[in-house]
Parts: sequence; structure tokens; C-alpha cells
Amino acid sequence: MIEAGTVHEGGCLCGAIRYHLQGPSLFEQQCCCRDCQKATGTGHTTIIGIHQSQLIIIGTPTTYTNYGESGGSVTRHFCGICGGRIFTSGSLPGEMIMVQSGSLDDPDQVSPQAVIYTKQAVKWDHFDPALPRYADYAPMSEATLNAMKGVLAGD
Ligand SMILES: [Zn+2]
Ligand SMILES: [Zn+2]
Repeated sequence: MIEAGTVHEGGCLCGAIRYHLQGPSLFEQQCCCRDCQKATGTGHTTIIGIHQSQLIIIGTPTTYTNYGESGGSVTRHFCGICGGRIFTSGSLPGEMIMVQSGSLDDPDQVSPQAVIYTKQAVKWDHFDPALPRYADYAPMSEATLNAMKGVLAGD
């Protein structure tokens, strides 16, 4: 898990987009939904949930917006040059964003806690059997719910 008080750097493949991510993460999950599969070209994506104020972007990502299962808009932010995914934001859930773990300079900082949207997982994708699995979203922690309302720990 990305701990409180730590700052992590990351960016896209070509380096046109860079960022600073401030801990703590609110959740770290493997998402198996079809939209993640299509957007990444892989079986799942590994996401770091944070409040949007915890991410400082250097450069201007290209965006693509579509609508999730709940009807809320989902905007994916990526490099317009190399296509590297950086983060996802949306009308739901509030001010939370999800950073793509593989974009970190040191992605081993991330340790997923759950596998979500398993109802859409592909047969050939495999996960740590110790992780809890959820057919759709995992229940949200109090810290996550507070962050959705704009209240951060320590505020
Ligand atoms: Zn790039
Ligand atoms: Zn997904």
C-alpha cells in the first residue's frame, strides 16, 4: 500500500506526462471490468484510489469519456503521444480518482487488496488467491466514503 506521508513519481511511456502522487492510497484493486479491458488491452487494470488533490500532473493528458454501468461519466486521462494511461476520474464517485499502477516509476509500491468486477473477468486472467473477490464493486471503507465527500484524513 502507498503510505501516508510518502510521495511517488510516475508518468507515461514517453515522458510527456509526469506526476507526483501523495499517499496514502484509499484502496488498491485489480479491476476486471470490460471497460478496463478495452481501455488497457489487457485482462484487468490495477488501480490506486486517491482523492484528486493527491495527484499533481505535469503536462496535459488527452481524455476520453464514456458512461459506466451506474450511468455516471467516466473519464480516462492518457498521453496523447504514447497512449500511456495515467488516471481515471468520473462524476461518480465524487472527487475520487483512480491512478493506473503501472504508470508509477516504482510500481512495486502497490499491493492490491481486492479483485473487483470478477463477473466480467476473462478466463485466462489469474489473481492472488488470498485476495477477496467481488462480482462488482468492493464495499468502500470509511476513509474512501469520506474522501468522496471531500473530507481527507488529517483535515
Ligand atoms: Zn507519453
Ligand atoms: Zn474496470
